[in-house]
Amino acid sequence: MKGVKNTITLFPSNWLYNAGVVGLLRVVKEIGDKNYEINQNGFVEIKKEGLTCKEIFEKWDGLTKEKINISYKGKSKGTKGYYYANQTEKSIKEKINALLEEKQTLRKGSKLFCSICENSENTNKSKLKKKVLTQTYGNILSASARTFPNSYWMLEPREFVCSKCEFILMCHHIPFVTIEKDKNEKVEIFINAPDFMLIWDLNKLAEEILQKSKEYEIRKILGSSLLQWAIKRRALLGAWTMMNIEVIVKRWHKEEKKWIIDYFDLPQDITKILLDYEIAGMIERINEEKIFDLILRGKFSELEKANYYVLKTILKLKNNEKIPDNDPITKYFVRYNNPDYLQNVAGVLPELYVKILEKIGR
Ligand SMILES: [Zn+2]
Repeated sequence: MKGVKNTITLFPSNWLYNAGVVGLLRVVKEIGDKNYEINQNGFVEIKKEGLTCKEIFEKWDGLTKEKINISYKGKSKGTKGYYYANQTEKSIKEKINALLEEKQTLRKGSKLFCSICENSENTNKSKLKKKVLTQTYGNILSASARTFPNSYWMLEPREFVCSKCEFILMCHHIPFVTIEKDKNEKVEIFINAPDFMLIWDLNKLAEEILQKSKEYEIRKILGSSLLQWAIKRRALLGAWTMMNIEVIVKRWHKEEKKWIIDYFDLPQDITKILLDYEIAGMIERINEEKIFDLILRGKFSELEKANYYVLKTILKLKNNEKIPDNDPITKYFVRYNNPDYLQNVAGVLPELYVKILEKIGR
């Protein structure tokens, strides 16, 4: 059709929306890899050709079933207690259609600006009533005042979300990864950043890390994701981007029966260090959780100490001395009885220490 754009371009915004966009990409990816592109500059383009409302709904519903064990298929009522309250198959399909359509749904009405994409849309009272954020997304938004910092949504639930952004927000649950399956507490995380390429990569990496162990602490999941990203991409990130990488932690509070949102980020220096691919490569070569942990905690001077004990231990092993269990080297390394490994570490650790100090300007 002439004059109709065939792509939907999406730019990063707040975490809820960003998670929504990544969720939407997962939905679209299920339909076909060629239906979307994550741009090098951090935004997303979705090709509308070949995407139908029906198919998007099916895939979305499938992923939703997988993720939160809820299906809206065939539902025309009775979803008050669902994650997205009071939604039906029909209402969700309407939102999908609004995203795929170019034209505004209303010709007249008052013009309002979307609090996410900043586009304006005509709306009227009855439509607006259905649209206030707290209705559909209440359950997750009441957990997080920081998501829409300009609105006192709890007192005045009037933050406007346009028709195009609505379905996107309804995809936000898809990319969250479960980290612990405790009886009393369910914890899910999503790594947010002001760049969709980075968000996509980091959450994939976090998922891979969590496949190895569900018990990692959040600090380590984020740290390892950044490290792996640096090694994989070998790219430089701007200061603004690095400053705005954070983990959104979603917990289900069983007693209060509500979601709680926490935010976690690493100190600037640590983020900078882990995202430097030379440094990341050296950390990878040392391949020791205890050393990685020291770096994550910013205890850089300990690396110098560790190197001292490495050299000492190499000497002891050469003289066939036994290393006691309480030897200081055990604080830093698991494989302290392996002379080849220690020799290897001794070749990397001093350089790593110097590079880290250079990086943080000490
Ligand atoms: Zn919008």
